[in-house]
Amino acid sequence: MKELFREADSAIVGHMKSILDNEGIATVIRNEHLYMAALSEVPIPEFFPALNVIHDEDYPRALQVLKEYLEKSRANAGKVNEEVICPSCGEANPGNFEVCWSCESQLAPTEE
Ligand SMILES: [Zn+2]
Repeated sequence: MKELFREADSAIVGHMKSILDNEGIATVIRNEHLYMAALSEVPIPEFFPALNVIHDEDYPRALQVLKEYLEKSRANAGKVNEEVICPSCGEANPGNFEVCWSCESQLAPTEE
């Protein structure tokens, strides 16, 4: 058993576990209930939920999967935050919009 990472938010740890489950990597969360029991106290990283691979040989692959996942979600977040200015009315639109929210004209030339 080898620890991948620990995080105060057990929802994030659980999400990462399900991603690794989908890749067929066996994992276990340690401290999950320990931390819940200590919620009223000052959070101590020692007690944060920790995601572990059960088989040490899965460790490099698990890290790679998590790294790719984080890079992908960061790239998606960047796309959404980027604003596109409408060429016909000048309003700013979120980068993932294809049509202007204000005047409904086409925002970006379709990539072909
Ligand atoms: Zn517009």
